[in-house]
Amino acid sequence: MSHNVSISCPSCGVAIENTNALTRSLTCPHCDNWVYFGSNGWEVAGLFEHAIDAPSMLQLGKSGVLLDRGFVVGGRVRLSYEDGYWDEWWLEFEDGNHQWLEEDDGVYRLHEKIDVKAKADQVKKANPGGNISIDGADWFVSERTDAQVAGVQGSLPVAIVPGEAVVCIGVMGNGRKMSIESSEQEIQIWQSSVVRGAAFKWS
Ligand SMILES: [Zn+2]
Repeated sequence: MSHNVSISCPSCGVAIENTNALTRSLTCPHCDNWVYFGSNGWEVAGLFEHAIDAPSMLQLGKSGVLLDRGFVVGGRVRLSYEDGYWDEWWLEFEDGNHQWLEEDDGVYRLHEKIDVKAKADQVKKANPGGNISIDGADWFVSERTDAQVAGVQGSLPVAIVPGEAVVCIGVMGNGRKMSIESSEQEIQIWQSSVVRGAAFKWS
């Protein structure tokens, strides 16, 4: 469960009230700057055009129900790579169990966070066909995508800034698959399950 806090905007100084305690980057509602929690506390990334309005049934602030769980769309990251882009939506579920939902060309995947740790330098060097060590076990690297943060919206549980590089790798081991996303300040590891578009009910 999470609670809400107040953040002092590092750009305009105005208090951003009622911010989810998990939030590590967001648009200041007063000055529109994208701010993030960096190594020196809250920092200003700057003003960005949020030109990420390709058609989607998901929208910032929209509420709905997925698999009997109510949620609100809290934020979005758009990642671009050489063949196009995909979006990661941050869904804030009523039960407090917030999750990423990946939308890639009409396919939705719900990410379930896995509580293991990988090392950033290993993820950055990982290549398909090789191995990576996670919590002392070897995992086979099945895929790698080098992406860049192309857009951000709303508030997010990761300190992320437009323009930064994100390495995404898929690993397999012991009959399991995991995805790892490593950005400048964050490494996230999850298992994904495909969700049909029809599984969403919009209020
Ligand atoms: Zn501000």
